[in-house]
Amino acid sequence: MTYRTGVLQIGSTELACLAAFVEEALEAKGCDGTLRHTEQWATRHGVDAPRLATGLKGLGGFCDCEVLVNCLPADLLEEPDDSDW
Ligand SMILES: [Zn+2]
Repeated sequence: MTYRTGVLQIGSTELACLAAFVEEALEAKGCDGTLRHTEQWATRHGVDAPRLATGLKGLGGFCDCEVLVNCLPADLLEEPDDSDW
């Protein structure tokens, strides 16, 4: 388990899924200064949205575009060294 998945309490596969979802949503709809895309993903995937939001804010992600930049960098998608991958 990496630092990020530990803080966010989701697996690296889910983290990569969240990154892809938020990236697409931001391209399509933009950021409105909230975590609405992140929360939408969490709801769809059965993840506790408030808990996830708290973890993301701890990593510097206070809105969807910050989540992508601060919490879900692109290299994450090519980081298969997690024990839970
Ligand atoms: Zn933003």
